[in-house]
Amino acid sequence: MNVVSPDAMTPAARRLVDPFQRAVTYLRVSVTDRCDFRCVYCMSENMTFLPKKDLLTLEELDRVCSAFVDLGVRKLRITGGEPLVRRNIMWLFKALSRHLGSGALDELTVTTNGSQLARFASELVDCGVKRVNVSIDTLDADKFKAITRWGSLDKVMEGIDTALAAGLSLKLNAVALKGVNEDEFDTLIKFCHDRGMDLTLIETMPLGEIDGDRTDQYLPLSQVREDLSQRWSLEDIDYNTGGPARYVRIGETGGRLGFITPMTHNFCESCNRVRLTCTGTLYMCLGQEDAADLRAPLRASESNEPLTAAIQEAISRKPKGHDFIIDRTTKRPSVGRHMSVTGG
Ligand code: SAM
Ligand code: SF4
Repeated sequence: MNVVSPDAMTPAARRLVDPFQRAVTYLRVSVTDRCDFRCVYCMSENMTFLPKKDLLTLEELDRVCSAFVDLGVRKLRITGGEPLVRRNIMWLFKALSRHLGSGALDELTVTTNGSQLARFASELVDCGVKRVNVSIDTLDADKFKAITRWGSLDKVMEGIDTALAAGLSLKLNAVALKGVNEDEFDTLIKFCHDRGMDLTLIETMPLGEIDGDRTDQYLPLSQVREDLSQRWSLEDIDYNTGGPARYVRIGETGGRLGFITPMTHNFCESCNRVRLTCTGTLYMCLGQEDAADLRAPLRASESNEPLTAAIQEAISRKPKGHDFIIDRTTKRPSVGRHMSVTGG
């Protein structure tokens, strides 16, 4: 393969553009597959996690992320598993914050279950993090326990309060679950909008084997939207955070509500992102199995040239889109890996 030194590239050649002319400007990085929760739609209770030796070190994660930034990525989201349970994770945030300082990166952000936010909120602010996504599906402590199996709602609430007090902008993400939290969306809207937070509802995606049956949990957001519009005035707005959510403004609260609908609405045509796992595997699409190994080229040389070439080659294979299905006959997920591997 022809390897071009990154320094020798013109600015245009440094950009990552896929075969469908989509510029890849957003990298999501799963820094661990481990988690202190066991959400029913995400993991089974007894998960086998990757051996620690397979993980990229924090220094290696910094190198890969920085190579992407050199290639024009403007937004990094740190996710997991639960990113804030990885040991010494603040080192990575601090290291990556240099790209905010240099202007190479627009945004460094994180998706978390909130369990460690009380501990880390102010350090995240110090690292230049401005917005944080917190996943919370219910405000009912018993239901919260039932959904997360191991989580404590009080601890997450404390994290939310601390993060808001530290000046972080929060967006809450809730997975819409039939028969579980579908009666709570009004409460969640009020809770978020009273505190100046956006709320995004997400459809369950068929990723990875779990203990239960996803065909029972799946709640189409088109139906949720229809129901909400009986009580709230929803106005479509052009707001875009670089993610796949479509937003409405709720007249009564003035706040924003987003819908992420991978199952009912294909958002692939504007996809600008790729996902890196904690072992250095790059997935070009959340809904496809094709992947590229970046760990070998990363470790092959102290120079970033093999890594840069591997990234460019991977982007040249980014597929046009995905077609998720929940197979009602076999109940098998359409993609075998768990969301905690690719980080949502
Ligand atoms: N642990 C962190 C958290 O919960 O925010 C970050 C990783 S988690 C995998 C990222 C997001 O994916 C969460 O909002 C979670 O609710 C969502 N998620 C996990 N499994 C999902 C599934 N099968 N379908 C839809 N969303 C899922
Ligand atoms: Fe953990 Fe997040 Fe998956 Fe829940 S959704 S089990 S918090 S990784």
